[in-house]
Amino acid sequence: MTDIEQLKTLLEKKEHLVAMVAPSFPIMYGYPEIVTKLKALGFEYVVEVSAGAKKTNEAVAKLLKANPESRFITSPCASFVRYVRTKHPEFLKYLAFQADSPMVATAKIVHETYPDYKPVFIGPCVVKKLEASEDYPELNMLVLTYRELEQILKEKNLSTIAANPNDKFDISEGPTRIYPFDGGLTESSGIRSFLKDDEIRIISGYKNCEATLKEFEENKKIRFVDILFCEGGCINGPGVSSPLSVPDRKKKVLEYAGSSKNA
Ligand code: SF4
Repeated sequence: MTDIEQLKTLLEKKEHLVAMVAPSFPIMYGYPEIVTKLKALGFEYVVEVSAGAKKTNEAVAKLLKANPESRFITSPCASFVRYVRTKHPEFLKYLAFQADSPMVATAKIVHETYPDYKPVFIGPCVVKKLEASEDYPELNMLVLTYRELEQILKEKNLSTIAANPNDKFDISEGPTRIYPFDGGLTESSGIRSFLKDDEIRIISGYKNCEATLKEFEENKKIRFVDILFCEGGCINGPGVSSPLSVPDRKKKVLEYAGSSKNA
């Protein structure tokens, strides 16, 4: 059964579902349009994955502070984790797995807040499906891309419904809404307050991964690598369907993050 079929079956059975919306959603949806659409589809609660990203940030900052000599590479990017596992297992010890990815941290918040509800991640990434099914089966997540959500919304004649201005995220978090573009983790976690610029590397794009690992190996000054596999970050993930350029997608995310009405 495909993930689309799985979601349709869950909706038909009126299962208790929580939608976890990735912070790249403003590229394709307005706010609160996304909440209206997901609630119309049958989700009882709709939460922002930026809430889990806050937990990720706290854990990363704690790791770096607790171990002043330590060196870490971020692990929220499911593709980069798989790249290291298969091509460079010698770097696995540097991946900051002690910090959950935003998707995983949000699923834990959902299980705590809404016991017996199933978390459904909706975002830009195809490889997150593997992170959910292979690495965290106990969290019972279903993962859909925005493209897949669009397909279901179209089938149910919900893709053009108007936003209800009273709709709101049931759990939200402001400062981490900048997470989906390169450097989002670094700039929202406060680590610049205790790490120097030359101790941090911010990288995106699979073509840059090899050179980054080489530099990390050679330059021991680098304590922290914030890395995403897609060029520009998750805003350029394969599950996004948008004619916008990467800079324009970033602008959309920043506009939402900076708008006080969304706080
Ligand atoms: S950067 Fe790309 S591959 Fe990595 S988590 Fe984001 S969308 Fe997925």
